[in-house]
Amino acid sequence: MRVARHDPLKCPQCSSKMDASGCLSSDKPISPSPGDFTICSYCQTVLRYGEGLRLSTISDQDIKGMNDEERAIFEYINVIAIYDHIHVIIAKPEEN
Ligand SMILES: [Zn+2]
Repeated sequence: MRVARHDPLKCPQCSSKMDASGCLSSDKPISPSPGDFTICSYCQTVLRYGEGLRLSTISDQDIKGMNDEERAIFEYINVIAIYDHIHVIIAKPEEN
């Protein structure tokens, strides 16, 4: 996975600013596109890029509106986010 740098984007869940994205399916840095999913590296919330690369959280309504491919990718990303969250708890037990 390579990291692409971009203008800082604000996480709508924790307000942290992120200025880089990694793509799981490429060895080359790829900038995110509207509709792509990401995980906040600070709060491990699964987010989605919208127009202008604005980040939003994903509601139950959003999940219901996903096609099969989108839902499969979302579920895969969600498992990674859960793993990341567990890893953060294990790696920093004194802070949690
Ligand atoms: Zn966050």
